[in-house]
This record gives sequence, structure tokens and C-alpha cells, in this order.
Amino acid sequence: MKIERVLTFTKTLLQKAVKPGDIVVDATVGNGYDTLFLVSLVGETGRVYGFDVQEQAIAATKDRLNQNGLMKRAKLFHSGHEQLAELIPEKHHGLVTGAIFNLGYLPGSDKTIITRPETTIAAIEKLLAIMAPEGIIVLVIYHGHEGGARERDTLMDYCQQLDQKTAHVLKYQFLNQQNNPPFIVAIEKR
Ligand code: SAH
Repeated sequence: MKIERVLTFTKTLLQKAVKPGDIVVDATVGNGYDTLFLVSLVGETGRVYGFDVQEQAIAATKDRLNQNGLMKRAKLFHSGHEQLAELIPEKHHGLVTGAIFNLGYLPGSDKTIITRPETTIAAIEKLLAIMAPEGIIVLVIYHGHEGGARERDTLMDYCQQLDQKTAHVLKYQFLNQQNNPPFIVAIEKR
């Protein structure tokens, strides 16, 4: 297939936005795969701030980074991403160039612990305030699970009303795939 798949397109967008030395956010670390990718983008001098409300996710991500000797490039918070502006040090406000949200529940874990539109939107608002111009937020929207359709619809309403003078907002979705595959919304701060 020549068209980029959803999950590879996520990486392409982040690669465009983030360079060595940058500050980035993994808003839902989960099993830590995206965190590992982000620490590779920011290099030795950059920093990844990671968030998750489940201790299990923080522990799994810490292990993955340690196995690769890259934990020193990250700071993980066992806390909701809606707290990000309070937890990211002020010296890094204005310098965040990339952020990713993998929404839904952690595979293999409790399916009732899901991201929720109210807190997801609160985190996006805070990110838009502390990002650098041309910083990109990628939302990977999973919507097949219980609560997923509500999150999708609320987020789409929110994203569509963002002022085009403030942000470019893109939707990237395959239209003919079965079983509610995830799709992307990317928000680039202007
Ligand atoms: N659906 C994706 C994985 C999503 S993992 C896939 O299939 O690959 C989503 C993670 O978000 C979970 O680890 C969950 O604990 C976390 N989470 C839920 N609410 C959160 C919040 N308010 N802040 C930060 N993380 C949150």
C-alpha cells in the first residue's frame, strides 16, 4: 500500500514538527512505544514529558526507556494530561513542538479506564497555550469501544470550531475500512 497507514502517518507528522533539542509531550504513555519514538526524535538535549493515570502504564514506559538507556531524556508523571501546564516547568512553556494522544483504553488492561473528552479537550487547550508556533498535536482517535463514539463526536465538534487563525486542523481517515479503525486529527498551532 502506497498511502501511509494511520499509525505511520502519526510518526511522519511528529517527525516534521520535532527536531533534536525540542520539548515534546506524550499525553497518554500507555505501553510506552510512542514515548520511545519521541525520545529518539528529541535526542540527547531534548525532553519528553509523559502522562498517564495508570501506574502500570508509567511502570511499563519507564522499563521500556530504561532498557534502551533513554530514561534521562524523559520525565513521566503519574497524573492526568489535563494537569500538563502545571507539571511542565515554566522554562519549557512556549517550547513544546509536538504532542501525541493515543485515546481509548490500554490494550490488555481495564477497558473502563478510558480517556474522556472533557479532560482531553482541557489538555489540548493547555497545550495550545504552551506550544511553539508550528507545533503539532496528533490525536489518534479510537472509537470502537464503549465511550469511544462520545469522545470522537465531542472532539470532532471541538476541533471543527477551532479558529483557523489559531490552528490548522487536519483529519486523516480511511473511509472504507471495517470495524471502526482509529483515525487522526492533527492540530498545528499557528
Ligand atoms: N487505544 C490505544 C491505546 C490507548 S492507551 C491502542 O489501542 O493502542 C490510553 C492511555 O491513556 C491509557 O494507558 C490510560 O491509562 C491513559 N489515560 C486515560 N485518561 C488519561 C488522562 N486523563 N491523562 C493521561 N492519561 C490518561
